[in-house]
Amino acid sequence: MDKAILDSLNIPVLVSGADGGIRHGNAAAGRFWRVLPAKLTDYTLSHLFAGDERIGAAVVRAVTSEASSTIEPVLLQSAAGRSNTVLRIQVDPLQSSGEQAGLAVVAIWDETRRERIASASHEARMRQSMGSMLKGLAHELQNPLSGIKGATQLLARKLGQSSSHSEYPEVILKELERLERLIKNLLAHGDNPPLNPVDFNLHELLDEVLWFIANSHAQLEMVREYDPSLPDCHADRDRLHQVFLNLLRNAAEASPAGGTVRIRTRIAGPWSEEEQLPDPGRIYFQIEVEDQGQGISESHREQLFTPFFTTKATGTGLGLSISHQIVMAHNGWLRQRNITPHGSVFTVIIPVME
Ligand code: ADP
Repeated sequence: MDKAILDSLNIPVLVSGADGGIRHGNAAAGRFWRVLPAKLTDYTLSHLFAGDERIGAAVVRAVTSEASSTIEPVLLQSAAGRSNTVLRIQVDPLQSSGEQAGLAVVAIWDETRRERIASASHEARMRQSMGSMLKGLAHELQNPLSGIKGATQLLARKLGQSSSHSEYPEVILKELERLERLIKNLLAHGDNPPLNPVDFNLHELLDEVLWFIANSHAQLEMVREYDPSLPDCHADRDRLHQVFLNLLRNAAEASPAGGTVRIRTRIAGPWSEEEQLPDPGRIYFQIEVEDQGQGISESHREQLFTPFFTTKATGTGLGLSISHQIVMAHNGWLRQRNITPHGSVFTVIIPVME
């Protein structure tokens, strides 16, 4: 009768001794761990809960001092063929005819779905408050920016065209204009502005970005391997500037002193074997940024494009997530792979418009 009640429950329930050995598992527990319920007695709590000692300790407390406990969250990572399951576990002493039976009942609630919903709504709230923060910040940046712009225009006039330094104020002014457009976009659309595609030469854009990186990382060698047959690009130039600046800055920061950063371009299409293209029938620009850093570990790769993921003391963790968003908005993709002996390649794929 007791067994029939346990088996009718849709909640996984185990009966365990103080030694952690399983004495009984109901049908739902069998389904949860994907073994025959009768086979559960071959396992221990430590096996089933991937070495989490808290459950065994709670069973000992239940058996020796009749104490009940709730343990949460219990994370089962890739155990029993599942990945990242979040559990809440209730442990109670087992009473048989009013007597302590020297056993404990372990009931399992799968909270994965609830956790996901909570974290999705947390992320939505975060994005919302980030959006208003960004707008506030963009607004505040306008005044100092126009101050810098005025002073740079004055400097440019004083230096005149003949000076050997006249290119610097020009670069500052061009970048200030890019910042002004970014701010205008942020104020109008928050962090998700629509694309503003224009025709431009991709190599000129890459050279522009490389100029900055080469100046701030003079100890690195920058190697360009450009495919000269590339057609003009029709895309949002300012936002791709952001993407390549992020990728090249990361590559430079990851590189050892005296290292080499390579930037390659080519056309990818149905003939490309090594990469999956979003639409295998179309042709794409393929831009690769290669560094000689340490590469990226498997656990970090999973979080690479998640906002705020950073391993740097002064990092923001926003560069790659924003870059990913921009490339996706262009119907392309951004991926990373590790290379031997060490280093990373970040590949950007964006469609060539016919
Ligand atoms: P941030 O640079 O502010 O940390 P990013 O989003 O650009 O933010 O990068 C997130 C994280 O990804 C970095 O902190 C770093 O751990 C890792 N990363 C990015 N690019 C590289 C690279 N080229 N080599 C090694 N790790 C990298």
